[in-house]
Amino acid sequence: MRHPRRAKRTPESRGIVARRFWGAHNVIRSDVLIIGGGVIGLMSGWLLARAGVAATVIDSGMPAATDAAAGMLAPSFEGSLQQGAALAEFSRKSLGRWPALAAALYERSGVDCDFQKGVLSVAFDEGEAAAFEKDHDGGLLLRREEVLALEPALSPRVLGGRFAADDGQVDPRLVRVALARALLNDGGRLLRGKKIVAVHAGENGPARVSTEGGETIEAGHVVIATGARLDGLTRLPPGAVFPVKGEALALGRVAGSPMRVVRTGRAYLCPKADGRVVVGATEIEGDWSLTTDAARIDALRKGACAAFSALSAAPEISRWAGIRPSTRDGAPIIGGAAEAERVIFALGHYRNGVLLAPATADAVVGAVTGEGADPLIAAFSAARFNELGVS
Ligand SMILES: Cc1cc2nc3c(=O)[nH]c(=O)nc-3n(C[C@H](O)[C@H](O)[C@H](O)COP(=O)(O)OP(=O)(O)OC[C@H]3O[C@@H](n4cnc5c(N)ncnc54)[C@H](O)[C@@H]3O)c2cc1C
Repeated sequence: MRHPRRAKRTPESRGIVARRFWGAHNVIRSDVLIIGGGVIGLMSGWLLARAGVAATVIDSGMPAATDAAAGMLAPSFEGSLQQGAALAEFSRKSLGRWPALAAALYERSGVDCDFQKGVLSVAFDEGEAAAFEKDHDGGLLLRREEVLALEPALSPRVLGGRFAADDGQVDPRLVRVALARALLNDGGRLLRGKKIVAVHAGENGPARVSTEGGETIEAGHVVIATGARLDGLTRLPPGAVFPVKGEALALGRVAGSPMRVVRTGRAYLCPKADGRVVVGATEIEGDWSLTTDAARIDALRKGACAAFSALSAAPEISRWAGIRPSTRDGAPIIGGAAEAERVIFALGHYRNGVLLAPATADAVVGAVTGEGADPLIAAFSAARFNELGVS
């Protein structure tokens, strides 16, 4: 908890008045307003609603990175990205929340978000195999025959692998649909097609935000979960959050497709319950465009076919691009702003926002209610990018 004095305050003084929405004099009010309806904003809204807090998620309808994600929940293979122990532990914690949350989401929404366990990473050259030997914290080292026993259709050129039984995947588009329904079913609100253009959060009184259409929304707390887009909503230093475009494609499943998530040095392959095999992904820093490059998509497809030759005959179903919200140090920004106590950041999740959504949402609930605060969050404070605030 970044604001120890909050613990002594009553819920009312924090602006929380057990699940209440108001609407008078053309001002919409909510206990907590979450700006952004991607996986981070919706998961936060849903968990707040489940905690009995009146939560409103507002989304502009601009493309969400969540819809572009492959949906891997794979902390065991992100060692090179982990910015210290805090992010590694936070990732593990979040992964551990997914099985129960996926079941609860199904119960509250009727949408099965295709949660699957088991991620296999494979080596096709000595360098990749040696890297597995060096760093096998997050999985079981497998010999060539063991890898082929798991994935018989894999190229016999494989040298070895690493298997993380508890890592997994979901279908992020289904997660987004499920979260929206569950949010509504648990008493939250979702306002679509409204872009927030300003946030005002002084020391006293509720925070106020303005929509592009001129409406005002008041809230006890405002959560900024806008992914890569800051659009002047905060005074985070320029470049603290920046876009890293990712391109991917989906092939139709054929006999000889992978049976679980398989990661190779050239591409990852994620077989989904709907019959697609999602193949990703490129990383292009600083590119806001959503166009796909034919040569780069072709390289991904070739990488997938090198691992599973049967995929050469698979039809391409779709190709797309999305914008990962990256930060200077690769870790997300989660928690309150010192100068604007009622504003909470939940953004900058780079290539692991789906994985990190449960732990991030738990942290948002903790920051709002003052209960169950996660000490790990200190490592993700916006203060590490120097001073920030809101206009
Ligand atoms: C190709 C690709 C593959 C990926 N694979 C994985 C993966 O396998 N596993 C994983 O964990 N992560 C993966 N990611 C990363 C993941 O997609 C992101 O980290 C995550 O989706 C970020 O979620 P978010 O809710 O913060 O942002 P978004 O999903 O971008 O949502 C932000 C929302 O905020 C809305 N918004 C923005 N500004 C405003 C405003 N001013 N007012 C109102 N609404 C606003 C937008 O319309 C959008 O709907 C991948 C990303 C890409 C591109």
